[in-house]
Formats: sequence, C-alpha cells, structure tokens
Amino acid sequence: MTETSPQRLFFALWPDPAVRRALAGLGREAAAGRGRPVHPEDLHLTLVFLGSVAPERLEQVTAAAGRVRFQPFELRLDHYGWWPRPRVLWCAPAEVPPPLPALFGELQRELAACGFAPEKRAYRPHITLARKVSRGRSGTLEEPIRWPVREFVLVSSRTHGDPPRYRVLKKWPADS
Ligand code: ATP
Ligand code: MG
Repeated sequence: MTETSPQRLFFALWPDPAVRRALAGLGREAAAGRGRPVHPEDLHLTLVFLGSVAPERLEQVTAAAGRVRFQPFELRLDHYGWWPRPRVLWCAPAEVPPPLPALFGELQRELAACGFAPEKRAYRPHITLARKVSRGRSGTLEEPIRWPVREFVLVSSRTHGDPPRYRVLKKWPADS
C-alpha cells in the first residue's frame, strides 16, 4: 500500500532476536520496577531521527541511505545508566567501535545533501531500555551483550496506540 500521509521516520540499528531478549531482560532488571519499559519489539539504537517526512520525499530518503557504505562491526554493550532530564534508562557500549560513528556520519551527510538538517547535539549511541524513570541507577554488565551489526534500517514510528510502535520499512546491509 502506498502511503499518502507523512510518516515519522528514523534510521536505526535493529537488534536480532537474541540481542533483543538480552536487552529486554536487562531493562527489567535495571529498571527494577520503575518507569515504563520499552516494549521488547521496539528496542533499537537510533542512528538519525528524521521526524515527519512527506510521502513524496521517501524515495529521496531511501536513495540517500542506499549510497551509504559501512563495515560490519560488533557492539559490546557493557554498561547501563540513567539520564535524569529525559528520564531514560539506557544501555550502551563503553567503547564505541569506529565503524558506528562512521556510519552515523555518512548517513547524516547523505541526508543533509537532500535537505535534512543534521543533528546539532553530539552523537551518543545508546539503547533506551525504559522511559519515565524518575530515579534510575547505573552499572556494568558482568556479561556484556554482544551485538553483531550487519545492517541498518529505516523505521516508522506511530505516536499513538499500544506498543509495539515501530515498524521496519527497509534494510541496508553492510559491505561484505
Ligand atoms: P515518544 O516521543 O512518544 O515518547 P519515542 O521517543 O520512542 O516515543 P519517537 O519520538 O518517534 O518515539 O522517536 C523515535 C526514535 O528517535 C527514538 O529512539 C527517539 O529517542 C529518537 N528521537 C526522537 N526525537 C529525536 C530528536 N529530536 N533527536 C534525536 N533522536 C530523536
Ligand atoms: Mg520521542
């Protein structure tokens, strides 16, 4: 079906089922009953957030993504923490492997070239585990979650209704 109204879109890394299970388990444990856990099917790592995109621009967006080259890499998710202002509990790699900012940079550059304003804030790769956490905590994982990243995806976000709220529209593989 062809979309006729604007969609809220973002690019992301999308966990495989095993990584998703591990993240959901960590979220339950680390949130300790506080806040609102992200639905397991919605867990992701945001690359670039586009916001509302008119249907006639979708082709531009996917063409820009198609020009991005990146190397496969592994994310070693080994700690979690809490940001008080957005009130989110997150999980992240202590060491960001260089192919990740490279992928982010290239994607953002391609999108900027077709008129999507780049993000001004520094890129802080993380996976939101729970929202509305008013008093969170941080910690390290004895057993890091190893996430082999082989693709990135374009996702549409519904702002209303029950979770899952995100839907993968298209995927782009890493260079082999
Ligand atoms: P809600 O906004 O309803 O609380 P949400 O934040 O999960 O839910 P979206 O706002 O559609 O849903 O965001 C989708 C993804 O993009 C999330 O990972 C979110 O953190 C990220 N995101 C949203 N807005 C921005 C922004 N202005 N800059 C960077 N990332 C953003
Ligand atoms: Mg939001």
